[in-house]
Amino acid sequence: MVSPLTPSRDRADACPGVLQVHAAADGGLARVRIPGGWLTGAQLAAVAACGGLEVTSRGNLQVRGLAPGAETALAARLSEVGLLPSHTHERVRNIVASPLTGRDGHGVLDARPLTTALDRALCADPALAELPGRFLFALDDGRGDVAGLGADVAIHGAAVLLAGRDSGLRVSPAEAVPVLLAAAHAFLAERSDEWRLSELDDGPARVARRLGGSVGASVSVAGRPPIGAVRQVDGHVAIGAAVPLGRLTPDHIAVLSGQSSVCVTPWRGVVVADLPDAGLLENLAAVGLAVERGSPWAGVTACAGRPGCARSLADVRADALAFHGGRPAPSLPVHWAGCERACGRPTGAHELILATEDGYESR
Ligand code: SF4
Repeated sequence: MVSPLTPSRDRADACPGVLQVHAAADGGLARVRIPGGWLTGAQLAAVAACGGLEVTSRGNLQVRGLAPGAETALAARLSEVGLLPSHTHERVRNIVASPLTGRDGHGVLDARPLTTALDRALCADPALAELPGRFLFALDDGRGDVAGLGADVAIHGAAVLLAGRDSGLRVSPAEAVPVLLAAAHAFLAERSDEWRLSELDDGPARVARRLGGSVGASVSVAGRPPIGAVRQVDGHVAIGAAVPLGRLTPDHIAVLSGQSSVCVTPWRGVVVADLPDAGLLENLAAVGLAVERGSPWAGVTACAGRPGCARSLADVRADALAFHGGRPAPSLPVHWAGCERACGRPTGAHELILATEDGYESR
């Protein structure tokens, strides 16, 4: 008999990483965690050189089409360019942060140093290597953009959120990282084989109690992806763009690779920051990145579909491109999926276009 105090680990964590590659129908699939989403254009180009590149709904990068055994070369390359600082913790470095924090004057704190501190502290804590690969931290600077993305533990300004619910706890920036790590430890102590805090019975309340809080209402925030040019407080310019269906093409990489500060965002987009002016906007548009809010690609997403996923009933990406191309942006986000799993669907209100044996149905 398993004691209720003894977590059982019957299910292996199959979440892909760099060292644990998922065998997809189109080859190996590796996920590269990018805490906060920020990297240099040169680092982005280094990842792109390893295979087809996608931006995920957590602001990470995904490499597709790897040949058998290619993960060894991928890991070596990523280590060389500083994108694989830990082998033990590589799959738990799931941190989303407000992309424009500290740059555009919004928000009540600068989440950039907190992102760095959280990543370092996470990787330095051996016990936290046991976190599931799906466990997500969010650092929202108070503007309400990433706090609504379904993170397990988050700060929203001073508030600590647990699976989207207010824990009642309030923290200063200096206290934020220790409290988030304590929340992650509390989840590990409470879980049996759940992957997410929201899957754990009464999970937010149990973790809040361990932290000295008392869980309250769900916090409802819905952030918008940065699209177009934004003036930074230091006089530089940042430009946000949606990546059509989250797939970065060689043309996209060619333009982005020369930039010093690139962010992959959880809305399957990119932000290029610290630019002298908005001149790059035309170059991004010329290669097909969506720099206007009216573009359909600012609101349309799709799962891998055929041929990348053997479960898919259709080539949902080709069908989504054909359907939405040239049309205005949908009023509600739309997600196309090749089967009921609906991988990568948005967390907020959206329309699901689901492939069936007989075509598509809308839900
Ligand atoms: S939703 Fe279904 S078809 Fe699409 S990637 Fe997920 S498992 Fe594959």
